[in-house]
Order: sequence, then C-alpha cells, then structure tokens
Amino acid sequence: MSNPIRLVIFGRQGAGKGTQCARLIERYGVAHISTGDMLRSAVADGTELGLKAKAIMDAGDLVGDDVMVGIVRERLAQADAAEKGFVLDGFPRTTAQAEALVMILGADSLHAAIDVDVPVDEVTQRMKARGRDDDTDEGIARRLELYEQETRPVLDWFEARDLLVTIDGFDAEDVVAERLAAAIDQRLA
Ligand code: ADP
Repeated sequence: MSNPIRLVIFGRQGAGKGTQCARLIERYGVAHISTGDMLRSAVADGTELGLKAKAIMDAGDLVGDDVMVGIVRERLAQADAAEKGFVLDGFPRTTAQAEALVMILGADSLHAAIDVDVPVDEVTQRMKARGRDDDTDEGIARRLELYEQETRPVLDWFEARDLLVTIDGFDAEDVVAERLAAAIDQRLA
C-alpha cells in the first residue's frame, strides 16, 4: 500500500479504546501500537523498563516523555508500522510527546486524531468493574486528573492542526465502531 493509514486514538481511560482499536485493526489492517500494552508486557517480562514503569503505572502517573518517545520511535521504525500503517493508542499523552511524534513522522503524516468521548462518571464505573492492577480508586482518580491536565492540551494541539475528530463513545460497542469507521472513511475520502 502506498499510503497506509496513520491514526492516533484518544479517549479517557475506560472509554473502550482497546476494544475499538481491535476493530480498526481488523477493518483497516493497520498495526495497533498501544503504549499501555507495551509497558504492561515489559512489566510482565521483568525488563529494566518494566521494573521502572510498574510503580509509576500503579500510581496512575505518567512514565517520562523521553522514555516513552524512545519506545514509540523504535516501534514505529518496525516494518509493519511503515507498511500497513498504524493506530497509536495511549501516545501522545503530553504536548511534548506530540511534538516528538511530528519530529519522528514528519509534519503531514497523520490522517486524523480521533477522540472517543465518554463521560467521566461512566468511565469511572467501567474501570471499577474491570479491576486491572492500576484500577484502584486512587489510580483511577489520578489518571483521569492527568488526562485533563496533560492530555486535553494534546487534543487542542491536534484541533489547531485540523486533525481532531471527536466522536460520541457513549453507546453500544457496535454503534461506536460504526461511528468511528464513518469518521475515518470521511477523513480518508
Ligand atoms: P489507561 O488509558 O487506562 O491509563 P493505558 O494502558 O493507556 O491505560 O496506560 C496505562 C499506564 O501506562 C498509564 O497510566 C501510564 O502510567 C503509562 N503510560 C502509557 N502510555 C503512556 C504515555 N504515552 N506516556 C506516559 N505514560 C504512559
């Protein structure tokens, strides 16, 4: 493919990004690059990165920009990302990461940044029900706080570059998946 699809997906923790990304991979044949999954697998493997990241993740804090940019840079350099395109999930989470991404990929390389919008009360309930290691009351509150503080400005950053598409994510999985695909197809048209 000469012009593979390159997307960034946003959404509060618990908005269903993981589920929707799985569908995007199937529909568009892109690589799924989830920084949260990459970090969790480093933790599971007990690598140096995993040992460092574990406490940060459990507290709901953000792993340092330099570390994250390094991980993503390496991942984007792998053949599948270049050949099939990708959906980036969990990165960029700070404006410094967004600036770095543009340096890595070049200014006009992304097709869209999509925000799957689900209200705070709903995502809080979903995270409590899911019970991942970092889904403690404090961890949840901290991540939602950092989302507003650090990641909201990244959404504004993409909006200012005419790349942001917000879709209503507070609906059944299938309905949200259709909305997402429609938004992407419109951007690609
Ligand atoms: P959630 O969206 O529920 O926070 P993720 O799987 O995206 O879940 O991320 C889990 C944790 O991994 C985050 O709370 C954070 O500690 C770390 N993390 C993931 N991506 C990044 C990133 N781009 N920058 C900094 N930390 C990150």
